[in-house]
Amino acid sequence: MTNQDKRMLSNVSKMPGHSISRSARLCHVGQKLRKIKGSTCEKCYALKGMYNMPNVKQAMERREVFFHSIDFVPRMVSVLKPLRKPEFRWFDSGDVDSVAMGHNILDVCEATPHLVHWIPSREYKIWGDVLRTRNLPANVTLRMSAHMIDDAPAKAWQNTSTVASHGGNITGHLCPAPTQEGKCGDCRACWDRKVSNVTYYQHWFPLIPCRHCRQGISFFIYP
Ligand code: SF4
Repeated sequence: MTNQDKRMLSNVSKMPGHSISRSARLCHVGQKLRKIKGSTCEKCYALKGMYNMPNVKQAMERREVFFHSIDFVPRMVSVLKPLRKPEFRWFDSGDVDSVAMGHNILDVCEATPHLVHWIPSREYKIWGDVLRTRNLPANVTLRMSAHMIDDAPAKAWQNTSTVASHGGNITGHLCPAPTQEGKCGDCRACWDRKVSNVTYYQHWFPLIPCRHCRQGISFFIYP
Protein backbone atom coordinates (compact mmCIF):
# COMPACT_ATOMS: atom_id res chain seq x y z
CA MET A 1 0.00 0.00 0.00
CA THR A 2 1.38 3.39 -0.99
CA ASN A 3 1.01 6.55 1.07
CA GLN A 4 -1.16 7.91 -1.73
CA ASP A 5 -3.51 4.93 -1.39
CA LYS A 6 -3.86 5.65 2.33
CA ARG A 7 -5.05 9.15 1.48
CA MET A 8 -7.94 7.85 -0.58
CA LEU A 9 -10.10 7.51 2.53
CA SER A 10 -12.03 10.22 4.33
CA ASN A 11 -12.09 10.35 8.10
CA VAL A 12 -15.31 12.08 8.99
CA SER A 13 -15.28 12.82 12.68
CA LYS A 14 -19.06 12.71 13.02
CA MET A 15 -19.19 9.15 11.69
CA PRO A 16 -17.92 6.16 13.60
CA GLY A 17 -15.55 5.01 10.85
CA HIS A 18 -13.88 5.88 7.58
CA SER A 19 -15.39 6.38 4.14
CA ILE A 20 -14.49 6.91 0.49
CA SER A 21 -16.07 9.20 -2.07
CA ARG A 22 -16.44 9.77 -5.81
CA SER A 23 -17.35 13.04 -7.41
CA ALA A 24 -21.08 13.71 -7.40
CA ARG A 25 -20.62 15.13 -10.91
CA LEU A 26 -20.18 11.54 -12.09
CA CYS A 27 -23.44 10.15 -10.67
CA HIS A 28 -25.52 8.64 -13.48
CA VAL A 29 -28.92 8.78 -11.79
CA GLY A 30 -27.97 11.79 -9.68
CA GLN A 31 -27.24 14.03 -12.63
CA LYS A 32 -30.74 13.37 -13.96
CA LEU A 33 -32.36 13.88 -10.55
CA ARG A 34 -30.58 17.19 -10.06
CA LYS A 35 -32.76 18.65 -12.79
CA ILE A 36 -35.98 17.52 -11.09
CA LYS A 37 -37.66 19.75 -8.54
CA GLY A 38 -38.30 17.95 -5.28
CA SER A 39 -35.76 15.23 -5.97
CA THR A 40 -33.27 14.18 -3.34
CA CYS A 41 -30.45 15.41 -5.58
CA GLU A 42 -31.92 18.76 -6.57
CA LYS A 43 -29.67 20.70 -4.23
CA CYS A 44 -26.79 18.27 -3.94
CA TYR A 45 -24.33 19.55 -1.34
CA ALA A 46 -21.46 17.79 -3.07
CA LEU A 47 -21.54 20.18 -6.00
CA LYS A 48 -21.20 23.28 -3.85
CA GLY A 49 -18.79 25.14 -1.62
CA MET A 50 -15.58 23.35 -0.83
CA TYR A 51 -16.35 20.70 -3.44
CA ASN A 52 -15.51 23.29 -6.09
CA MET A 53 -12.10 24.08 -4.65
CA PRO A 54 -9.20 23.01 -6.89
CA ASN A 55 -7.55 20.82 -4.24
CA VAL A 56 -10.80 18.95 -3.59
CA LYS A 57 -11.38 18.44 -7.31
CA GLN A 58 -7.83 17.15 -7.71
CA ALA A 59 -8.32 14.71 -4.84
CA MET A 60 -11.50 13.46 -6.50
CA GLU A 61 -9.61 12.97 -9.76
CA ARG A 62 -6.98 10.90 -7.94
CA ARG A 63 -9.73 8.80 -6.36
CA GLU A 64 -11.29 8.26 -9.77
CA VAL A 65 -8.03 6.91 -11.13
CA PHE A 66 -7.78 4.69 -8.03
CA PHE A 67 -11.33 3.34 -8.42
CA HIS A 68 -10.67 2.46 -12.07
CA SER A 69 -7.19 1.03 -11.59
CA ILE A 70 -6.76 -2.57 -12.70
CA ASP A 71 -5.51 -3.52 -9.20
CA PHE A 72 -8.18 -1.59 -7.32
CA VAL A 73 -9.38 -4.59 -5.30
CA PRO A 74 -6.05 -5.61 -3.71
CA ARG A 75 -5.04 -1.99 -3.16
CA MET A 76 -8.34 -1.11 -1.49
CA VAL A 77 -8.19 -4.25 0.64
CA SER A 78 -4.71 -3.18 1.77
CA VAL A 79 -6.07 0.24 2.70
CA LEU A 80 -8.95 -1.24 4.69
CA LYS A 81 -7.14 -4.11 6.43
CA PRO A 82 -5.50 -1.92 9.12
CA LEU A 83 -8.74 -0.11 10.04
CA ARG A 84 -9.77 -0.70 13.63
CA LYS A 85 -13.20 0.90 13.64
CA PRO A 86 -15.53 -1.66 12.03
CA GLU A 87 -17.95 0.68 10.23
CA PHE A 88 -16.96 1.63 6.70
CA ARG A 89 -19.04 3.73 4.39
CA TRP A 90 -18.80 3.77 0.60
CA PHE A 91 -19.68 6.95 -1.28
CA ASP A 92 -19.98 9.77 1.20
CA SER A 93 -20.47 11.53 -2.09
CA GLY A 94 -20.95 10.06 -5.54
CA ASP A 95 -22.22 6.60 -6.41
CA VAL A 96 -21.25 3.36 -8.10
CA ASP A 97 -20.25 3.87 -11.74
CA SER A 98 -20.75 0.49 -13.38
CA VAL A 99 -21.48 -3.20 -12.87
CA ALA A 100 -17.73 -3.85 -12.92
CA MET A 101 -17.19 -1.32 -10.14
CA GLY A 102 -20.01 -2.90 -8.14
CA HIS A 103 -18.33 -6.30 -8.38
CA ASN A 104 -15.00 -4.80 -7.35
CA ILE A 105 -16.61 -3.19 -4.31
CA LEU A 106 -18.23 -6.45 -3.22
CA ASP A 107 -14.91 -8.27 -3.76
CA VAL A 108 -13.34 -5.76 -1.38
CA CYS A 109 -16.14 -6.27 1.15
CA GLU A 110 -15.71 -10.05 1.03
CA ALA A 111 -11.98 -9.67 1.61
CA THR A 112 -12.48 -7.42 4.66
CA PRO A 113 -14.80 -9.43 6.94
CA HIS A 114 -13.56 -7.48 9.98
CA LEU A 115 -15.56 -4.50 8.66
CA VAL A 116 -19.24 -3.79 8.14
CA HIS A 117 -19.86 -1.91 4.91
CA TRP A 118 -22.66 0.56 4.26
CA ILE A 119 -23.24 1.26 0.58
CA PRO A 120 -25.85 3.96 -0.10
CA SER A 121 -26.89 4.20 -3.75
CA ARG A 122 -29.45 5.40 -6.23
CA GLU A 123 -28.14 3.14 -8.98
CA TYR A 124 -30.84 0.47 -8.76
CA LYS A 125 -30.12 -0.93 -12.24
CA ILE A 126 -26.38 -1.33 -11.71
CA TRP A 127 -26.79 -3.09 -8.37
CA GLY A 128 -29.62 -5.22 -9.74
CA ASP A 129 -27.27 -6.45 -12.47
CA VAL A 130 -24.48 -7.10 -9.98
CA LEU A 131 -26.74 -9.12 -7.69
CA ARG A 132 -28.05 -11.24 -10.53
CA THR A 133 -24.76 -13.13 -10.47
CA ARG A 134 -23.77 -13.13 -6.81
CA ASN A 135 -25.10 -12.75 -3.29
CA LEU A 136 -24.57 -9.68 -1.20
CA PRO A 137 -21.79 -10.45 1.30
CA ALA A 138 -23.05 -10.83 4.87
CA ASN A 139 -21.06 -7.81 6.05
CA VAL A 140 -22.69 -5.42 3.54
CA THR A 141 -25.76 -3.23 3.88
CA LEU A 142 -26.71 -1.98 0.44
CA ARG A 143 -29.16 0.82 1.19
CA MET A 144 -31.02 2.12 -1.84
CA SER A 145 -31.93 5.79 -1.56
CA ALA A 146 -35.30 7.22 -2.55
CA HIS A 147 -35.19 9.48 -5.58
CA MET A 148 -37.74 12.04 -4.41
CA ILE A 149 -38.31 13.77 -1.07
CA ASP A 150 -41.27 12.13 0.69
CA ASP A 151 -41.11 9.13 -1.63
CA ALA A 152 -41.91 5.70 -0.21
CA PRO A 153 -38.95 3.32 0.15
CA ALA A 154 -37.78 1.74 -3.10
CA LYS A 155 -39.54 -1.56 -3.65
CA ALA A 156 -37.77 -4.87 -4.02
CA TRP A 157 -34.76 -3.88 -1.92
CA GLN A 158 -34.10 -5.24 1.55
CA ASN A 159 -32.54 -1.99 2.76
CA THR A 160 -33.54 1.52 1.78
CA SER A 161 -33.50 5.13 2.89
CA THR A 162 -36.00 7.94 2.46
CA VAL A 163 -36.07 11.69 3.02
CA ALA A 164 -38.97 13.31 4.83
CA SER A 165 -39.95 16.93 4.53
CA HIS A 166 -41.19 18.71 7.61
CA GLY A 167 -44.39 16.87 8.55
CA GLY A 168 -43.70 14.13 6.03
CA ASN A 169 -44.02 10.41 6.74
CA ILE A 170 -41.38 8.67 8.77
CA THR A 171 -40.81 5.10 7.66
CA GLY A 172 -38.78 2.79 9.86
CA HIS A 173 -35.85 4.23 11.78
CA LEU A 174 -35.63 8.01 12.05
CA CYS A 175 -32.03 9.23 11.92
CA PRO A 176 -31.31 10.70 15.36
CA ALA A 177 -28.25 12.69 14.29
CA PRO A 178 -30.04 16.05 14.34
CA THR A 179 -30.66 15.59 18.05
CA GLN A 180 -27.08 14.43 18.66
CA GLU A 181 -25.14 17.43 17.39
CA GLY A 182 -25.13 15.88 13.95
CA LYS A 183 -23.30 12.76 15.13
CA CYS A 184 -24.16 9.10 14.91
CA GLY A 185 -23.37 8.58 18.58
CA ASP A 186 -24.33 5.01 19.40
CA CYS A 187 -26.60 4.65 16.36
CA ARG A 188 -25.44 2.26 13.65
CA ALA A 189 -28.76 1.87 11.84
CA CYS A 190 -27.37 2.63 8.39
CA TRP A 191 -24.99 -0.34 8.68
CA ASP A 192 -27.64 -2.67 10.10
CA ARG A 193 -29.40 -4.96 7.64
CA LYS A 194 -32.15 -5.57 10.19
CA VAL A 195 -33.14 -1.89 9.79
CA SER A 196 -35.12 -2.02 6.58
CA ASN A 197 -35.56 1.74 6.08
CA VAL A 198 -33.86 4.79 7.53
CA THR A 199 -35.62 8.13 7.22
CA TYR A 200 -33.57 11.32 7.20
CA TYR A 201 -35.31 14.58 7.85
CA GLN A 202 -34.94 17.18 5.17
CA HIS A 203 -35.32 20.27 7.24
CA TRP A 204 -32.69 19.92 9.89
CA PHE A 205 -29.70 20.03 7.63
CA PRO A 206 -29.40 23.75 7.21
CA LEU A 207 -29.67 24.15 10.95
CA ILE A 208 -26.97 21.71 11.88
CA PRO A 209 -24.16 21.69 9.34
CA CYS A 210 -23.08 18.15 10.03
CA ARG A 211 -20.70 16.83 7.46
CA HIS A 212 -21.60 13.31 8.37
CA CYS A 213 -25.26 13.46 7.79
CA ARG A 214 -24.85 15.82 4.93
CA GLN A 215 -23.42 12.67 3.50
CA GLY A 216 -25.99 10.36 4.90
CA ILE A 217 -28.48 12.42 3.10
CA SER A 218 -26.03 13.48 0.50
CA PHE A 219 -28.25 13.03 -1.84
CA PHE A 220 -30.63 15.54 -0.73
CA ILE A 221 -30.86 18.37 1.53
CA TYR A 222 -30.90 22.00 0.93
CA PRO A 223 -32.43 25.06 2.25
S1 SF4 B 1 -29.44 6.71 11.08
FE1 SF4 B 1 -28.29 8.66 11.24
S2 SF4 B 1 -27.21 8.50 13.22
FE2 SF4 B 1 -27.86 6.42 12.67
S3 SF4 B 1 -26.10 5.54 11.59
FE3 SF4 B 1 -27.43 6.46 10.02
S4 SF4 B 1 -26.64 8.54 9.70
FE4 SF4 B 1 -25.76 7.77 11.66
